[in-house]
Amino acid sequence: MHDTLARLEKIPFPALRRSRLDTLQINVGYRCNQSCLHCHVGASPHRTEEMSGAVTDTVLQFLERRRIATLDITGGAPELNPHFRSMVTAAREMGVRVIDRCNLTIFEVEGQQRLPEFLAGEQVEIVASMPCYLQDNVEKQRGKGVYDVSIRGLQRLNALGYGRDGSGLTLNLVYNPLGPSLPPPQIALEADYKRELHERFGIVFNNLFTLANMPIQRFGAILLSQNQFDTYLDKLLHAHRNENLDGVMCRSLLSVDYRGYVYDCDFNQMLDLPLARRGRDRIHLSDLLDEDIAGNPIRVAGHCFGCTAGQGSSCGGALKEAAE
Ligand code: SF4
Ligand code: SF4
Repeated sequence: MHDTLARLEKIPFPALRRSRLDTLQINVGYRCNQSCLHCHVGASPHRTEEMSGAVTDTVLQFLERRRIATLDITGGAPELNPHFRSMVTAAREMGVRVIDRCNLTIFEVEGQQRLPEFLAGEQVEIVASMPCYLQDNVEKQRGKGVYDVSIRGLQRLNALGYGRDGSGLTLNLVYNPLGPSLPPPQIALEADYKRELHERFGIVFNNLFTLANMPIQRFGAILLSQNQFDTYLDKLLHAHRNENLDGVMCRSLLSVDYRGYVYDCDFNQMLDLPLARRGRDRIHLSDLLDEDIAGNPIRVAGHCFGCTAGQGSSCGGALKEAAE
Protein backbone atom coordinates (compact mmCIF):
# COMPACT_ATOMS: atom_id res chain seq x y z
CA MET A 1 0.00 0.00 0.00
CA HIS A 2 2.84 2.40 0.77
CA ASP A 3 4.21 1.85 -2.72
CA THR A 4 0.84 2.89 -4.05
CA LEU A 5 0.72 6.09 -1.97
CA ALA A 6 4.28 7.10 -2.89
CA ARG A 7 3.40 6.82 -6.57
CA LEU A 8 0.03 8.55 -6.22
CA GLU A 9 1.47 11.53 -4.34
CA LYS A 10 3.77 12.30 -7.27
CA ILE A 11 0.79 12.78 -9.60
CA PRO A 12 -0.59 16.35 -9.52
CA PHE A 13 -4.37 16.89 -9.32
CA PRO A 14 -6.30 20.21 -9.44
CA ALA A 15 -6.66 21.95 -6.04
CA LEU A 16 -10.04 21.50 -4.33
CA ARG A 17 -11.73 23.02 -1.30
CA ARG A 18 -14.57 21.72 0.82
CA SER A 19 -18.06 23.20 0.55
CA ARG A 20 -21.05 22.68 2.89
CA LEU A 21 -20.96 19.41 4.81
CA ASP A 22 -24.08 17.28 4.40
CA THR A 23 -22.90 13.68 4.86
CA LEU A 24 -20.91 11.93 7.54
CA GLN A 25 -19.52 8.65 6.21
CA ILE A 26 -18.25 6.44 9.00
CA ASN A 27 -16.21 3.28 8.77
CA VAL A 28 -17.23 1.24 11.79
CA GLY A 29 -14.58 -1.46 11.35
CA TYR A 30 -12.71 -3.72 8.99
CA ARG A 31 -14.26 -7.04 10.00
CA CYS A 32 -16.27 -8.60 7.20
CA ASN A 33 -17.71 -12.04 6.54
CA GLN A 34 -16.12 -11.81 3.06
CA SER A 35 -12.67 -10.92 1.72
CA CYS A 36 -13.27 -9.71 -1.85
CA LEU A 37 -10.48 -9.30 -4.32
CA HIS A 38 -11.12 -5.60 -5.01
CA CYS A 39 -11.96 -4.53 -1.45
CA HIS A 40 -10.39 -1.08 -1.04
CA VAL A 41 -10.58 -1.48 2.74
CA GLY A 42 -8.73 -4.78 2.87
CA ALA A 43 -11.58 -6.16 5.00
CA SER A 44 -11.81 -9.82 6.03
CA PRO A 45 -13.15 -12.07 8.81
CA HIS A 46 -9.76 -11.82 10.55
CA ARG A 47 -9.68 -8.05 11.01
CA THR A 48 -10.42 -6.90 14.56
CA GLU A 49 -10.42 -3.08 14.26
CA GLU A 50 -13.84 -1.64 15.15
CA MET A 51 -15.44 1.64 16.26
CA SER A 52 -16.03 1.82 20.02
CA GLY A 53 -19.19 2.95 21.77
CA ALA A 54 -17.40 6.17 22.81
CA VAL A 55 -16.72 7.04 19.15
CA THR A 56 -20.26 6.18 18.02
CA ASP A 57 -21.49 8.55 20.77
CA THR A 58 -19.29 11.30 19.29
CA VAL A 59 -20.73 10.52 15.86
CA LEU A 60 -24.26 11.01 17.22
CA GLN A 61 -23.24 14.23 18.97
CA PHE A 62 -21.70 15.52 15.75
CA LEU A 63 -24.81 14.68 13.71
CA GLU A 64 -26.96 16.63 16.13
CA ARG A 65 -24.64 19.58 16.73
CA ARG A 66 -23.68 20.14 13.08
CA ARG A 67 -27.18 19.27 11.77
CA ILE A 68 -25.89 16.69 9.35
CA ALA A 69 -28.54 15.35 6.97
CA THR A 70 -27.07 11.93 6.13
CA LEU A 71 -25.17 9.23 7.99
CA ASP A 72 -23.53 6.78 5.58
CA ILE A 73 -22.27 3.66 7.39
CA THR A 74 -19.60 1.47 5.87
CA GLY A 75 -17.04 -1.17 6.90
CA GLY A 76 -16.10 -4.11 6.56
CA ALA A 77 -19.58 -5.40 7.10
CA PRO A 78 -20.88 -2.49 9.23
CA GLU A 79 -23.62 -4.57 10.78
CA LEU A 80 -21.00 -6.67 12.63
CA ASN A 81 -20.12 -3.70 14.85
CA PRO A 82 -21.87 -4.26 18.23
CA HIS A 83 -23.04 -0.60 18.32
CA PHE A 84 -24.49 -0.60 14.81
CA ARG A 85 -28.15 -1.05 15.71
CA SER A 86 -28.27 1.38 18.65
CA MET A 87 -26.48 4.04 16.60
CA VAL A 88 -28.88 3.60 13.66
CA THR A 89 -31.90 3.87 15.93
CA ALA A 90 -30.54 7.02 17.63
CA ALA A 91 -29.70 8.67 14.30
CA ARG A 92 -33.14 7.87 12.88
CA GLU A 93 -34.78 9.34 15.99
CA MET A 94 -32.96 12.60 15.16
CA GLY A 95 -34.45 12.49 11.66
CA VAL A 96 -31.11 11.71 10.01
CA ARG A 97 -31.20 9.77 6.73
CA VAL A 98 -29.18 6.58 7.29
CA ILE A 99 -27.46 4.57 4.58
CA ASP A 100 -26.12 1.05 5.22
CA ARG A 101 -23.47 -0.19 2.78
CA CYS A 102 -24.47 -3.83 2.92
CA ASN A 103 -22.85 -6.84 1.28
CA LEU A 104 -26.11 -8.91 1.27
CA THR A 105 -24.36 -12.11 2.39
CA ILE A 106 -24.36 -10.76 5.96
CA PHE A 107 -28.07 -11.69 6.25
CA GLU A 108 -27.07 -15.37 6.46
CA VAL A 109 -24.39 -14.90 9.10
CA GLU A 110 -25.23 -16.33 12.54
CA GLY A 111 -26.95 -13.69 14.66
CA GLN A 112 -27.83 -11.43 11.68
CA GLN A 113 -30.83 -13.32 10.31
CA ARG A 114 -33.35 -10.62 11.41
CA LEU A 115 -31.18 -7.77 10.12
CA PRO A 116 -33.38 -7.04 7.05
CA GLU A 117 -36.42 -6.54 9.33
CA PHE A 118 -34.41 -4.18 11.56
CA LEU A 119 -33.23 -2.12 8.58
CA ALA A 120 -36.75 -1.92 7.14
CA GLY A 121 -38.19 -0.94 10.53
CA GLU A 122 -35.76 1.98 10.76
CA GLN A 123 -36.24 2.89 7.06
CA VAL A 124 -32.52 2.59 6.46
CA GLU A 125 -31.47 3.01 2.83
CA ILE A 126 -29.49 0.04 1.58
CA VAL A 127 -26.60 0.30 -0.86
CA ALA A 128 -25.66 -3.25 -1.79
CA SER A 129 -22.67 -4.50 -3.73
CA MET A 130 -23.63 -6.52 -6.79
CA PRO A 131 -20.75 -6.38 -9.27
CA CYS A 132 -22.73 -8.14 -12.01
CA TYR A 133 -26.06 -9.79 -12.68
CA LEU A 134 -24.18 -12.90 -13.87
CA GLN A 135 -23.02 -15.54 -11.39
CA ASP A 136 -19.57 -16.11 -12.85
CA ASN A 137 -18.55 -12.44 -12.73
CA VAL A 138 -19.85 -11.94 -9.19
CA GLU A 139 -17.98 -14.98 -7.88
CA LYS A 140 -14.72 -14.05 -9.62
CA GLN A 141 -14.70 -10.84 -7.64
CA ARG A 142 -16.45 -11.75 -4.40
CA GLY A 143 -15.87 -15.48 -3.95
CA LYS A 144 -17.59 -18.78 -4.61
CA GLY A 145 -21.18 -19.14 -3.41
CA VAL A 146 -21.65 -15.37 -2.99
CA TYR A 147 -24.04 -15.01 -5.94
CA ASP A 148 -26.81 -17.30 -4.67
CA VAL A 149 -26.65 -15.81 -1.18
CA SER A 150 -26.79 -12.28 -2.61
CA ILE A 151 -29.83 -13.16 -4.73
CA ARG A 152 -31.60 -14.60 -1.68
CA GLY A 153 -30.71 -11.42 0.22
CA LEU A 154 -32.22 -9.21 -2.48
CA GLN A 155 -35.37 -11.33 -2.55
CA ARG A 156 -35.75 -10.97 1.22
CA LEU A 157 -35.37 -7.19 0.94
CA ASN A 158 -37.95 -7.07 -1.84
CA ALA A 159 -40.35 -9.12 0.29
CA LEU A 160 -40.09 -6.41 2.97
CA GLY A 161 -40.86 -3.71 0.38
CA TYR A 162 -37.30 -2.60 -0.44
CA GLY A 163 -36.94 -1.37 -4.01
CA ARG A 164 -40.72 -1.23 -4.53
CA ASP A 165 -42.51 1.99 -5.53
CA GLY A 166 -44.28 3.75 -2.68
CA SER A 167 -42.68 1.66 0.10
CA GLY A 168 -40.27 4.39 1.18
CA LEU A 169 -37.58 1.68 1.39
CA THR A 170 -34.69 2.41 -0.94
CA LEU A 171 -32.49 -0.34 -2.35
CA ASN A 172 -29.59 0.73 -4.55
CA LEU A 173 -27.02 -1.61 -6.10
CA VAL A 174 -23.35 -0.97 -6.77
CA TYR A 175 -21.37 -2.10 -9.78
CA ASN A 176 -17.62 -1.85 -10.20
CA PRO A 177 -15.57 -3.25 -13.09
CA LEU A 178 -13.75 -6.55 -12.68
CA GLY A 179 -10.43 -5.30 -14.00
CA PRO A 180 -8.53 -2.08 -14.75
CA SER A 181 -11.18 -0.45 -16.94
CA LEU A 182 -13.63 2.41 -16.47
CA PRO A 183 -17.24 1.56 -15.64
CA PRO A 184 -19.68 1.54 -18.61
CA PRO A 185 -22.43 4.23 -18.84
CA GLN A 186 -24.57 4.01 -15.70
CA ILE A 187 -28.02 4.50 -17.25
CA ALA A 188 -27.59 1.73 -19.84
CA LEU A 189 -26.11 -0.70 -17.33
CA GLU A 190 -28.90 0.02 -14.84
CA ALA A 191 -31.46 -0.91 -17.51
CA ASP A 192 -29.61 -4.21 -18.14
CA TYR A 193 -29.46 -5.02 -14.43
CA LYS A 194 -33.16 -4.23 -13.96
CA ARG A 195 -34.19 -6.40 -16.90
CA GLU A 196 -31.92 -9.35 -16.08
CA LEU A 197 -32.52 -9.47 -12.33
CA HIS A 198 -36.28 -9.16 -12.84
CA GLU A 199 -36.50 -11.77 -15.58
CA ARG A 200 -34.28 -14.26 -13.78
CA PHE A 201 -35.34 -13.79 -10.15
CA GLY A 202 -38.22 -11.28 -9.97
CA ILE A 203 -35.88 -8.82 -8.22
CA VAL A 204 -36.53 -5.05 -8.25
CA PHE A 205 -34.34 -2.20 -7.02
CA ASN A 206 -34.18 1.61 -7.26
CA ASN A 207 -30.85 2.71 -8.78
CA LEU A 208 -27.58 1.22 -9.91
CA PHE A 209 -24.42 3.11 -8.95
CA THR A 210 -21.40 2.49 -11.16
CA LEU A 211 -18.11 3.03 -9.30
CA ALA A 212 -14.58 3.15 -10.67
CA ASN A 213 -12.00 0.92 -9.01
CA MET A 214 -9.50 2.97 -7.04
CA PRO A 215 -5.79 2.20 -7.50
CA ILE A 216 -5.30 1.72 -3.76
CA GLN A 217 -5.23 -1.10 -1.19
CA ARG A 218 -5.80 -4.63 -2.55
CA PHE A 219 -6.67 -3.49 -6.08
CA GLY A 220 -3.68 -1.14 -6.16
CA ALA A 221 -1.41 -3.98 -5.01
CA ILE A 222 -2.79 -6.27 -7.73
CA LEU A 223 -2.16 -3.58 -10.35
CA LEU A 224 1.40 -3.16 -9.10
CA SER A 225 2.08 -6.90 -9.05
CA GLN A 226 0.73 -7.27 -12.58
CA ASN A 227 2.64 -4.24 -13.81
CA GLN A 228 -0.62 -2.50 -14.75
CA PHE A 229 -0.54 0.35 -12.24
CA ASP A 230 0.84 3.03 -14.60
CA THR A 231 -1.39 1.95 -17.49
CA TYR A 232 -4.50 2.17 -15.30
CA LEU A 233 -3.45 5.59 -13.94
CA ASP A 234 -2.88 6.82 -17.49
CA LYS A 235 -6.33 5.63 -18.45
CA LEU A 236 -7.92 7.53 -15.54
CA LEU A 237 -5.82 10.63 -16.23
CA HIS A 238 -6.70 10.76 -19.91
CA ALA A 239 -10.40 10.34 -19.16
CA HIS A 240 -10.37 13.20 -16.56
CA ARG A 241 -13.12 15.81 -17.01
CA ASN A 242 -12.91 19.16 -15.27
CA GLU A 243 -16.69 19.43 -15.02
CA ASN A 244 -16.65 16.49 -12.57
CA LEU A 245 -14.58 18.48 -10.05
CA ASP A 246 -17.61 20.29 -8.63
CA GLY A 247 -19.41 17.07 -7.78
CA VAL A 248 -16.67 14.99 -6.15
CA MET A 249 -17.95 13.65 -2.86
CA CYS A 250 -15.14 15.06 -0.69
CA ARG A 251 -16.63 18.54 -1.13
CA SER A 252 -19.73 17.70 0.94
CA LEU A 253 -18.79 14.51 2.83
CA LEU A 254 -16.53 13.86 5.79
CA SER A 255 -15.09 10.40 6.30
CA VAL A 256 -14.45 9.07 9.82
CA ASP A 257 -12.31 6.05 10.68
CA TYR A 258 -13.07 3.53 13.42
CA ARG A 259 -10.98 5.55 15.91
CA GLY A 260 -12.86 8.77 15.14
CA TYR A 261 -10.16 10.49 13.02
CA VAL A 262 -11.38 12.37 9.97
CA TYR A 263 -10.45 12.34 6.26
CA ASP A 264 -11.75 14.06 3.14
CA CYS A 265 -13.08 10.75 1.82
CA ASP A 266 -13.01 7.01 2.37
CA PHE A 267 -10.19 6.56 -0.17
CA ASN A 268 -7.99 9.06 1.68
CA GLN A 269 -8.83 7.17 4.85
CA MET A 270 -7.55 3.96 3.29
CA LEU A 271 -4.40 5.73 2.11
CA ASP A 272 -3.97 7.26 5.58
CA LEU A 273 -4.12 10.84 4.28
CA PRO A 274 -5.90 12.63 7.17
CA LEU A 275 -7.85 15.87 6.74
CA ALA A 276 -5.35 18.76 6.68
CA ARG A 277 -6.24 21.45 9.23
CA ARG A 278 -4.16 23.90 11.24
CA GLY A 279 -0.95 21.99 10.58
CA ARG A 280 -2.02 19.13 12.85
CA ASP A 281 -1.13 15.52 12.02
CA ARG A 282 -4.62 14.24 12.70
CA ILE A 283 -7.97 15.74 13.57
CA HIS A 284 -10.54 13.87 15.63
CA LEU A 285 -14.27 14.22 15.01
CA SER A 286 -14.64 15.50 18.58
CA ASP A 287 -12.36 18.47 17.61
CA LEU A 288 -14.88 19.53 14.98
CA LEU A 289 -18.08 19.59 17.05
CA ASP A 290 -18.07 23.39 17.02
CA GLU A 291 -16.17 24.04 13.79
CA ASP A 292 -17.31 24.66 10.25
CA ILE A 293 -14.84 23.07 7.83
CA ALA A 294 -16.25 24.67 4.66
CA GLY A 295 -13.36 26.14 2.65
CA ASN A 296 -10.80 23.70 4.07
CA PRO A 297 -8.34 22.45 1.41
CA ILE A 298 -8.85 18.83 0.32
CA ARG A 299 -5.90 16.41 0.21
CA VAL A 300 -5.72 15.33 -3.41
CA ALA A 301 -3.35 12.99 -5.29
CA GLY A 302 -3.31 10.72 -8.34
CA HIS A 303 -6.09 8.42 -7.10
CA CYS A 304 -8.51 11.37 -7.35
CA PHE A 305 -8.62 10.82 -11.11
CA GLY A 306 -10.69 7.73 -10.23
CA CYS A 307 -13.43 10.20 -9.18
CA THR A 308 -13.21 12.50 -12.20
CA ALA A 309 -12.57 10.09 -15.09
CA GLY A 310 -15.32 9.69 -17.68
CA GLN A 311 -18.80 9.98 -16.19
CA GLY A 312 -17.19 10.50 -12.76
CA SER A 313 -17.52 8.28 -9.72
CA SER A 314 -18.67 8.81 -6.14
CA CYS A 315 -20.29 6.76 -3.40
CA GLY A 316 -23.58 7.75 -5.07
CA GLY A 317 -22.49 6.47 -8.48
CA ALA A 318 -21.71 8.41 -11.67
CA LEU A 319 -21.42 12.16 -11.10
CA LYS A 320 -22.91 13.40 -14.34
CA GLU A 321 -25.91 11.11 -14.26
CA ALA A 322 -26.34 11.44 -10.50
CA ALA A 323 -26.63 15.19 -10.94
CA GLU A 324 -29.22 14.97 -13.70
S1 SF4 B 1 -18.03 -7.35 1.21
FE1 SF4 B 1 -17.32 -5.24 0.97
S2 SF4 B 1 -16.18 -4.76 2.86
FE2 SF4 B 1 -16.42 -6.99 2.75
S3 SF4 B 1 -14.53 -7.70 1.78
FE3 SF4 B 1 -16.07 -7.45 0.17
S4 SF4 B 1 -15.76 -5.37 -0.62
FE4 SF4 B 1 -14.70 -5.52 1.36
S1 SF4 C 1 -10.39 10.43 -4.07
FE1 SF4 C 1 -12.17 11.52 -4.86
S2 SF4 C 1 -13.41 11.97 -3.09
FE2 SF4 C 1 -11.33 11.47 -2.37
S3 SF4 C 1 -10.23 13.41 -2.20
FE3 SF4 C 1 -9.85 12.60 -4.23
S4 SF4 C 1 -11.44 13.55 -5.54
FE4 SF4 C 1 -12.07 13.75 -3.42
